[in-house]
Amino acid sequence: MPLATTQGFVLGWSPYNEQDRLVTLFTKDKGTLRAIAPGSLKTGNRFASLFELFTEGEFHYYWQENRELITISRGETIHSYFRIVSNPGNIFYFYLMADVLLTFIPFHSSDPRLYKLLNSILTRSEENIAIDLLLLYFLAWTLRIEGLMFNPRMCSNCNMRNLEQVWVRSDFRGILCSDCRTNESLILSKEELSFIGWTEKNSPELLESWRDRIDIAKLIRFFTRKIEFHGECTLKSSRYLKEFA
Ligand SMILES: [Zn+2]
Repeated sequence: MPLATTQGFVLGWSPYNEQDRLVTLFTKDKGTLRAIAPGSLKTGNRFASLFELFTEGEFHYYWQENRELITISRGETIHSYFRIVSNPGNIFYFYLMADVLLTFIPFHSSDPRLYKLLNSILTRSEENIAIDLLLLYFLAWTLRIEGLMFNPRMCSNCNMRNLEQVWVRSDFRGILCSDCRTNESLILSKEELSFIGWTEKNSPELLESWRDRIDIAKLIRFFTRKIEFHGECTLKSSRYLKEFA
């Protein structure tokens, strides 16, 4: 049986049978993988804490020919984010991030930028950058990495620039100026367009400077709907966020 090692974040797990877990990993080099962790549901199993949401670990595994599932033989925690992830004020935001990675990103697709993005979001959350802004940054970059972010600097119909406010196309594929809009209803302000452009070149550490300049909840809803539209999926965990209430 071939053996391999990978570094990854735990996205979740479910019981596979009485003693084993079925774990989903978001790995650095192989995208999303599903793995059996034998014996990890036994009481007192020393790997239990390794499988908490977004724990980063090094996983040694083997697989059998003609079998999709890999088997984890052992693993070590690189970094546990459990304290910050399980905080009641944060947990639903992290559920939505996990949901996006599980539902929207194709299985086995491994863009190193996605791993780096997740790593950066988790690191910044430990430095007390607000979770709603981190989620917004995560959603914007996930769309960009998947090639689905529009150009925030010009009308997608007539290429006009320096727009004061714009309307989002109903298929989410671009923005329209006041001359080109028809019956679109979602409006983005100049500041909100600047924010989308700002995320291209800036790391999340300075996110807080946008707090009073943009409608964070509106943008979270917009990016979430855009992901659902392009991915033809439903991000069920969004319903637990106050931004969707
Ligand atoms: Zn236009």
